[in-house]
Amino acid sequence: MTSLDCPIIISGGKKVKSFEFPICTQALDSVTRQRSLAEQLFNVLLELSSDPEGGVTRAPYSPEETSIHQRFGDIAESLGLTVTRDAMANTYMTLPGRDPSAKKILIGSHLDSVKQGGNFDGAAGVVAGLVACAALKDLGIQPSCDISVMGVRAEESAWFGVSYIGSRGALGVLPDGALDAKRSDTGLTLADGIRVAGGDPEAVAARKKTFEPTDLRCFLELHIEQGPLLDRDGLPVGIVTGIPGNFRFPDAHVIGEYGHVGLLKDWRRDAVTAASEFVVAMDALWADWEGAGKPMACTIGEFSTNPELHAMTKVPGELRFTLDVRAYSSAHLQELEQKTLAIIRSIEERRGVRFELGNTARAAVGEMAPAICDGFEAIARNLAIPARRLGSPASHDSAAFAAAGVPTAMIFVRNANGSHNPAEGMTIDDFLQATAIMTAWIADTTK
Ligand SMILES: [Zn+2]
Repeated sequence: MTSLDCPIIISGGKKVKSFEFPICTQALDSVTRQRSLAEQLFNVLLELSSDPEGGVTRAPYSPEETSIHQRFGDIAESLGLTVTRDAMANTYMTLPGRDPSAKKILIGSHLDSVKQGGNFDGAAGVVAGLVACAALKDLGIQPSCDISVMGVRAEESAWFGVSYIGSRGALGVLPDGALDAKRSDTGLTLADGIRVAGGDPEAVAARKKTFEPTDLRCFLELHIEQGPLLDRDGLPVGIVTGIPGNFRFPDAHVIGEYGHVGLLKDWRRDAVTAASEFVVAMDALWADWEGAGKPMACTIGEFSTNPELHAMTKVPGELRFTLDVRAYSSAHLQELEQKTLAIIRSIEERRGVRFELGNTARAAVGEMAPAICDGFEAIARNLAIPARRLGSPASHDSAAFAAAGVPTAMIFVRNANGSHNPAEGMTIDDFLQATAIMTAWIADTTK
């Protein structure tokens, strides 16, 4: 069990809104009838983004990503949905509701991938939205509000070093300077990428929003699980309890003093020993929290002496490191940051070194809407689809919507072999079950 695993197995006995059984079974039947649509869409993804070196590559704002947005839009139109795009070149495929002025339901995920990734990470959420709309149409249901499927651009931060680009751009909260970020391989700026893909970087720079958070009734995202828990537990579906927030030191240093290898112990101000004590102390802190049942994770991903000055026979005077600490509650994050700083102060005093932490980056906890999660759980139970609740150690577009105050919920689908690799192992059967839960919730909520 990992530390970000929230082991709340659905066990019954909770008071939840009751969902009409016929709607649930009709939704499941209708979604099951959309199998060939789902397969067609996953095949389009493979056809347009297979990488000759393995897996799929759909870089943000690349011709591959744009052609997928185009083809998905064409298929959506053939299903009777209306297709629009915004200044970020995100795609919206909308099943019109009875009241166009009502707050809309947004279903979405990202259509980009990491280099040589798998076919399902992100894209499954867009396919799920289209399958849900097709199933509602198949049932002759016109929902009370618009249902929009959002093909989100540029979620994977490996390319531009900025997270949630498409969703944060649509919400008007892209960080300052993001448009000047350069793609890690081609050097193309984000602004140029958006322009080439048909978007409007000037409007993005002016913080033109596609919608206000208050225009949205909720944001729903289906995603493959990136960890092994559903596969381990033999469950097709997970209901996500939250997305962790974090605090990060992207460029921290321990400053000691370079010295001769013969320097006596008490005279040393050794940066490596001090930093190592910090690593061990953070690991012990994590173990304490794990023992107390408080989920968190701590990663020191970079840890290096200065190659221009270090030597086998020198006491190291400098060490650079990064820190990423994540947890599911903002109170926990605050406490962890205080404890981290206390550990640092104690090491500084005892070892005569100085920690220069640089900027601290923070991301808010992505809290899921309890009422929607309870609804998903009730529907899963109605349909006898085995499910459990679990946390999402990884970040998702949902976090951007939750941070903007939009009621947000996520469904995970069982996936063998992890994600961000060509061996992602989601089955269409599992995908359809998860999509049926989401569809039934929408059908019931928009009666
Ligand atoms: Zn993803």
